[in-house]
Amino acid sequence: MDWLAKKYLRPRKIPSTACSGCGLGQVHKKVLLAIDQLGLTTEDVVWGAGIGCAGRQTFNTWKGDNFSGTHGRVYAIATGLRVALPAEKKIILTVGDGDAFGIGLLHLLHCARRNLDVTVVVADNFGYQSTGGQYGYTTPQGYVTDSSPYGTREPGWLQNGIDILTLLENAGATFLARHSSFEGQKAVDSIKKAIANKGFSLVHVIYPCVTHFGAVSLKSRDKEEIFRWFEGLFRKDGNAATGIHFKRGVFHDARGSRPEFASSLKEWTLTLRHEADVNA
Ligand code: SF4
Repeated sequence: MDWLAKKYLRPRKIPSTACSGCGLGQVHKKVLLAIDQLGLTTEDVVWGAGIGCAGRQTFNTWKGDNFSGTHGRVYAIATGLRVALPAEKKIILTVGDGDAFGIGLLHLLHCARRNLDVTVVVADNFGYQSTGGQYGYTTPQGYVTDSSPYGTREPGWLQNGIDILTLLENAGATFLARHSSFEGQKAVDSIKKAIANKGFSLVHVIYPCVTHFGAVSLKSRDKEEIFRWFEGLFRKDGNAATGIHFKRGVFHDARGSRPEFASSLKEWTLTLRHEADVNA
């Protein structure tokens, strides 16, 4: 077990049950590195997990307080906790692309609108991989999946000039970034900024699913080939096969520009109580 896992994770959850070669472990390692580099302990963080591969690997893994909110409901639970917990307690949510950009999208947008102080790390594997590889909201158009044997017809949230992060920016998020799981300290730095932000932050990390997306959509079990395809998505000229060109790095940084929801709600409640006392 490596030192980070020993320090922050429950021993019985190590090693993880992710497939060999899956990029998910690298995504979670970046979150742990960010926590460590910020000098945070297990007492300082409450960790929430969603469903799917990302949720399964992080469920009850954190040594400190943690919770699960499946099928996009993790944001509603986090909102209640944010209001109930002291402001200095960090709330970090690790979710998949379905939890974030599909079934949970409306909850997510409301967190951004409120500028709720939570950090969402979206581990995106381009579809419903834990249930066998059905297409989802970021699956590139045209790719064969378990539920699209002739290729997907609809564009993903990252194609045709649409970027899901723009939607979140317009909804009021104050920190947004995107990275691939292959990146090192740059991705960790974005997660650190997200955790330190007193407002709504989301870091979108795209990682290779070598089992379903690789084997079915890319028709390869060769990990090096799959990794090269993913890395191509981030090239300056994009990946010609998908028409996708991801903007990598910090996407939107408006930290400190808007009041944070839970703090302003608490201040307002105190004012109302004070006025009620004065008028009693
Ligand atoms: S199914 Fe894909 S995303 Fe899920 S653990 Fe295996 S390789 Fe990773």
